[in-house]
Amino acid sequence: MINFACPKCKIVLERKTDFLICNDCNRKFHQKNNIPILLINRMEPSNVEGISKSNEGCEQSE
Ligand SMILES: [Zn+2]
Repeated sequence: MINFACPKCKIVLERKTDFLICNDCNRKFHQKNNIPILLINRMEPSNVEGISKSNEGCEQSE
């Protein structure tokens, strides 16, 4: 059986019925297909910016 570690505390998670729990920070990690979802937060960087960069500047000058 594979032991999974808390991504924050680096200690082995305790296996419960349908989730894993960290005894240090008490975070619960749900499992999907017997694979725990080790997400501390949803820390996804928002890279949505940059699409509407200034496309202007075509000043009509002679
Ligand atoms: Zn932890």
